[in-house]
Amino acid sequence: MGRVLDNVADFFYPNCCPCCGSVIPYDRLICDECAAKLATCSFCPKCGRHECICENSELSYDGCVTVIPYTSVGRDGILELKYRDGFNFAKLLCEPLFKRLSECGYLDADIITAVPMTIIRRSETGYNQAEYIAKRLSKLSGIPCDFKLIRKRLRSKTQHELDAEERQLEARSAYYPNPKRNLDGKTVILCDDIITTGSTLSACSEALRSMGCKKIYCAVLAGTVQTEDNNKE
Ligand SMILES: [Zn+2]
Ligand SMILES: [Zn+2]
Repeated sequence: MGRVLDNVADFFYPNCCPCCGSVIPYDRLICDECAAKLATCSFCPKCGRHECICENSELSYDGCVTVIPYTSVGRDGILELKYRDGFNFAKLLCEPLFKRLSECGYLDADIITAVPMTIIRRSETGYNQAEYIAKRLSKLSGIPCDFKLIRKRLRSKTQHELDAEERQLEARSAYYPNPKRNLDGKTVILCDDIITTGSTLSACSEALRSMGCKKIYCAVLAGTVQTEDNNKE
């Protein structure tokens, strides 16, 4: 009976590969071809970047784990997650993300939170993919979520319209702490879908730090790599 219902569900709500859009069995998260093409590379466990920036910059977070490079099918999957409900991709990558957090000793946290969106952006997409990642990690780790720690101001420009320097300035002033929350001595895991320069994660970390947060570990699915053609969020 279960199988019959699954077939009916497949017919009305086909399960799709988040990278190429082809229909896949209900119990799969990615097609075989895209799974084989999904690249891996190393990321620094401190700054979270493929090209380590620890020496040249003051990081406002204590560590960051990243799972895949933002290239080819990985990029397709992230864009699908960002704009078109491609939750399969987050489900697929949250397991290795959880494993990385554990390997780095970053799971000793009190709260999991996510990079916030403006209310307008949220009403456009209907969800915040960073919160979705946080909820999956919460389920895997048993650490509770709180999405009311940081807030984002409304702005006229979106991130990809800005160059690196503007992006940093913009990010700094875009995020602010919730005055009603106190994080004295707490360790927080901050989730997002992608790390580009790290300026968004840094700005959110500064907001958390101003609330008394002791340690901040970031958890992101993908990281841009300099050698690739596309380095935009
Ligand atoms: Zn595919
Ligand atoms: Zn580094």
